[in-house]
Amino acid sequence: MGKFTLRCAGCSARHDAWNRGCDKDGGLLRTEYQQKCLIPAPYPGIWKFIDWLPVDGIISSFTGGPIAYRSEGLARELGLKDLWIAFNGYWPERGAVLRTCSFKDLEAPPTVRRLMEQGGRDILVVSSAGNTARAFAHLSRLTGYPLVLVIPSAARDRLWLTPGDGSTEQIFLVSVEGDYSDAIALGELLAGQAHFVPEGGARNIARRDGMGTVMLESVLEMGSLPDRYFQAIGSGTGGISAWEASMRLIEDGRFGSRLPTLHLAQNLPCAPIYNAVHGGSYDERCPHGMYDAVLFNRRPPFDVPGGVADALEATHGSVVGMTNEEADKASRLFEEKEGVDIMPAAAVAVAALIKAEAEGQVGTDERILLNITGGGERLLRKTYSLDRLSTDISVERNEQGEGMLMDQIKEKLLEVRMA
Ligand SMILES: *Cc1c(COP(=O)(O)O)cnc(C)c1O
Repeated sequence: MGKFTLRCAGCSARHDAWNRGCDKDGGLLRTEYQQKCLIPAPYPGIWKFIDWLPVDGIISSFTGGPIAYRSEGLARELGLKDLWIAFNGYWPERGAVLRTCSFKDLEAPPTVRRLMEQGGRDILVVSSAGNTARAFAHLSRLTGYPLVLVIPSAARDRLWLTPGDGSTEQIFLVSVEGDYSDAIALGELLAGQAHFVPEGGARNIARRDGMGTVMLESVLEMGSLPDRYFQAIGSGTGGISAWEASMRLIEDGRFGSRLPTLHLAQNLPCAPIYNAVHGGSYDERCPHGMYDAVLFNRRPPFDVPGGVADALEATHGSVVGMTNEEADKASRLFEEKEGVDIMPAAAVAVAALIKAEAEGQVGTDERILLNITGGGERLLRKTYSLDRLSTDISVERNEQGEGMLMDQIKEKLLEVRMA
């Protein structure tokens, strides 16, 4: 038996390590690690938590990880005595060195490492509106792992990378004239072919446990679980991960026995999870006009066993909707009080905290963890002149030529794989 077993979050059935979901109830599969105590390993960044990642070894060229610190500026401004910030991005002064500036950098390394351990025979397919694509492109450069990225054409500007981290010849970039949903549809089609493997989204345990390291690192700094956890969500996977990591920490026994209450935030009016909880529906023009389009996901893992609805119920959590105006104010306040720029998505979480405090939903003495899911991009741009990934092919939204597309991808990538 390996270091973990997989169990359905709904019916508790045991599963094979490579299953992607429960065939009985569609539930998310969850890792149960042999190691029940949080014992940091002598590795850099996220690899410190290797006991609770579904991999046997590390990628030594990736050294980033989550960092957490106690807030002074924002805490004073909001009158909160025990506010902690988990910063996932680039802020070297605080030890934060994620090269693509968001917590997607925590998902990509265990995902790629796991595929490498499985034999690395399949080409990884990732559909993304921006941050996820960058994170996986960066990992592909560090490792040489072959990757197909499928992005909506509007996201092309977001595909920057820091220079000098390896080759891009094993990356095939498909730009789709359409939105994120069109990119997902095409990505699914490609990933279903022989020799290709989907990244897996919320169903990917390496991705969830990678994001779970935010809670682990924060708890090491704080000495206990927080009372409340604030995060901006699109799919809600980060919220599920925080909940799962908290359950493991409770089992450890040293960090408290109460699950942190999840305060998840979406960007109104394009907020499908907010709608699922509170009613209403999003505009058909969404994600147009959003403060940050990474927070829009039409098919979030909401109702599935072990999904967002279960996480909210188990933690007595809530979902709020924040406007662009509220997020904009929050972004400026955060930068002024904490001294670093943050991604628009992260500002939505800050706005949710400001609102919760103003409405008396949080106690002044409560231990609060605010997940800044991305930041420091401006700082990074001052340090590096960035590379841009070039597009290998642009396709129309409903193009019928998948066959031709597959041939082109194979021509470029299968060669790399064989080399
Ligand atoms: C992806 C992303 C989110 C939302 O993450 P979930 O998968 O919904 O938890 C929030 N902020 C940033 C910066 C992101 O890239």
